[in-house]
Amino acid sequence: MTQAFYREGRFGRVHLLTLQEAEERFERALFHEAGHAAVALFAGIRVKHVKVDADHAVTTRVRSKHPLDGPEIQRRVAFIAAGYLAERRRIPRDRAWARRCAETDFRDVRRLLARGNHTFGQAGFRLAWRALTQHWPFVVAISNLVRARGEAFENELLSLAVAHGVVSVNGRPPSSTR
Ligand SMILES: [Zn+2]
Repeated sequence: MTQAFYREGRFGRVHLLTLQEAEERFERALFHEAGHAAVALFAGIRVKHVKVDADHAVTTRVRSKHPLDGPEIQRRVAFIAAGYLAERRRIPRDRAWARRCAETDFRDVRRLLARGNHTFGQAGFRLAWRALTQHWPFVVAISNLVRARGEAFENELLSLAVAHGVVSVNGRPPSSTR
């Protein structure tokens, strides 16, 4: 590909990314956020929306009303770790890049574990990996929806979760995560 993105910077015109690199990073961002959303729904955390903004950055908003006890720390760690883990699963090479992208996430995990127990942290990572492995088609479906439409809202994500057997019709998570 010859088309590339440039930025005017302190050192003049800086080559940023080729179109192919940009597409790959967008794909990573989509799967990163789809991973967050999928594992949140799996763990019973409500997802308000997943959205792509003007810079092609993808964000996920969630809400949780549970008190921050051990099981809740485990669920939140699973939700936060899921972005990095989904990226790794989608594009296994370039681990360092995935790690750099997840720096804020890892900081949030450390903050959670400062108040809790490391056992819950490990359990959270295992929960996220299990959920992603079991429900990968659900992750793909979320990323496809967000790619096609630029956003996905709570009710759409819930319908997808029901269709993929991630939550039952009344919106409750599978009992194994509680
Ligand atoms: Zn993230």
